[in-house]
Amino acid sequence: MRYGFLGLGIMGSRMAARLVRAGFEVTVWNRTTIKCHPLVELGAKQGINPKEVAAAADIVFAMVADPGASQDLCFGADGVLAGIKPGCGYVDMSTVDPATAQRIAEAVTTKGARFLEAPVSGTKKPAEDGTLVILAAGDRGLYDQSLPAFARMGRLSLYLGEVGQGAKMKLVVNLVLGAMMEVLGESLALGEKCGLAGDQILQVLAEGAMANPMFKVKGPMILAGDTTTSFPLKHMEKDLRLAMHLGRELGQSLPVAAAVHAIFGQSLAKGLGDQDIAAVVRSL
Ligand code: NAP
Repeated sequence: MRYGFLGLGIMGSRMAARLVRAGFEVTVWNRTTIKCHPLVELGAKQGINPKEVAAAADIVFAMVADPGASQDLCFGADGVLAGIKPGCGYVDMSTVDPATAQRIAEAVTTKGARFLEAPVSGTKKPAEDGTLVILAAGDRGLYDQSLPAFARMGRLSLYLGEVGQGAKMKLVVNLVLGAMMEVLGESLALGEKCGLAGDQILQVLAEGAMANPMFKVKGPMILAGDTTTSFPLKHMEKDLRLAMHLGRELGQSLPVAAAVHAIFGQSLAKGLGDQDIAAVVRSL
């Protein structure tokens, strides 16, 4: 099985590295070429553009920033669509909206190839450790064929049905993540103004029913002013924006998500987009 991997950002570089380390034949490509070098040192081949990577692979994985990036990758002049062969598979793992996934699926299947969307839950460390949760939807045969690769990248893969359901699951879940991140920041900000010690607030949270792994990681980061990026704030703003759009389409009111999205939007406007989501506290 020959794999391609397009997009070597925070997540893609670690996911691709797991495939290479597992001994799979992997050809990588990234818009900013220098990010290919560590993967090539690990044993990957380097592709010239998405078209050539797709033409040479049985299954191509992609992990890029947002709907615009996913569409550039697929529909660009040297994009996946120009190279992918009938019967081969394209698995886009980026977080996009359902309409983008459906548009790409339609184009890929029109070429006689197969498409699966597979956004992931989990961040930089789970990507490194291969413990992501993979939210797949689309071609069932391609899903089954991708399982050996998914097993290296994730601890759980779910098959969710038709294209669009993976994107929806991801947006539904990330709405909770965004709200939890923001409210943790609010709680710590208020607590410290009350003269409470931040670490003791975190200790009380950790001992109660609200205990969760995210608070354990992000809480100390907020207290230390550490915004080392695991999940870029700009992507959280995008996910909340897409969730709001989904809510409008389906007639579902999302008042908390709307408020949280506004605060992430303000953070983005302050130039915090490339910092970790924990930097949202700077807007409070
Ligand atoms: P990232 O570090 O910002 O990397 C983004 C990647 O997209 C880079 O490889 C970038 O290329 C590429 N890209 C952007 N625009 C492009 C375009 N127009 N054409 C081709 N490539 C383009 O992001 P990330 O954290 O790895 O996240 C990737 C995806 O996973 C996003 O959809 C995000 O929402 C999702 N996600 C992230 C996390 C997380 O914790 N980080 C967790 C779950 C899901 P360059 O290197 O050239 O800029």
